[in-house]
Amino acid sequence: MTAKLIDGTALAQRLRAQFRTRAEALAARGHRPGLTVVIAGDNPASRVYVRNKIKACAEAAFDSRHIEFPGDVSTATLLEEIARLNADPAVHGILVQLPLPPQVDSALVTAAIAPHKDVDGFLPVNLGALLIGHPEFAPCTPAGVMEMLRSENIPIEGRHAVVIGRSNIVGKPMALLLLQAGATVTICHSKTVDLPAQTRQADILVAAIGRANFVRAEMVKPGACVIDVGINRIAGNEQTGEKASKLAGDVDFAGVREVAGWITPVPGGVGPMTIAMLLANTLKATEKASTQ
Ligand code: NAD
Repeated sequence: MTAKLIDGTALAQRLRAQFRTRAEALAARGHRPGLTVVIAGDNPASRVYVRNKIKACAEAAFDSRHIEFPGDVSTATLLEEIARLNADPAVHGILVQLPLPPQVDSALVTAAIAPHKDVDGFLPVNLGALLIGHPEFAPCTPAGVMEMLRSENIPIEGRHAVVIGRSNIVGKPMALLLLQAGATVTICHSKTVDLPAQTRQADILVAAIGRANFVRAEMVKPGACVIDVGINRIAGNEQTGEKASKLAGDVDFAGVREVAGWITPVPGGVGPMTIAMLLANTLKATEKASTQ
């Protein structure tokens, strides 16, 4: 069997076209969706993410801004900026690009974002709303995974979903969204005993670990839907002429695609969907603001 590929790039592109229509309708009523990204320091990966977010915003006719601070910025300066953005009615979503420089109290800065502008969905109040089944802004990566499952009509209700990873931004909210959709959910993590015995039970297997090619074919139930959240940079192989470094997911794509029913690629899978869901949350915030 060769798994069906779930193309996150194509799905995200279709969504952005729909978002553009909604954004233009809002703009015509004086509420162009506005997303502001705050970035500090010179982390190359952060710069790539921010560039991709700006590009996606432009495609969806959002007003996107990014505010850059030097690597020696203080917590106080960032808190002032967040307070200013919280008060700005043209800003509907605020995203603080992590990691912040080490001298900054990242928890304090991110906690200062107004809950109704927390389009990342990371604030405890928004995660709590998700926990009780009424999410205002679901965290973007797990929300993107749910869109991918829906786009392929993959059955969720009554199925067994296994999530590998228990981070606050991916693993835990992923498990909650699957639970809310009626799956029986198992969360696995670094202390799980006999991980393959768990993963082989999964009709839907989500890998959010941060270890390249970790999930192998023998860990996957035949026909399962395998979603690869991982983004790992791995060194190339000079002897074979491979590029200096490339991206790899948490799933051994070549092996697992022979067993699974569906699989997501890296790159071009969950990554573009994460950004699409950031736009979805910003639209939601704008639509709400426009009625107040
Ligand atoms: P994290 O480091 O916070 O969490 C990793 C989780 O993996 C932990 O809960 C840990 O218990 C688990 N884990 C580690 N080793 C394990 C093992 N041997 N067996 C079982 N579980 C193990 O990472 P995160 O922020 O949740 O991100 C996970 C991955 O997803 C990373 O590669 C990250 O780059 C990627 N990511 C991708 C997107 C996207 O848009 N596609 C967004 C966020 C994160």
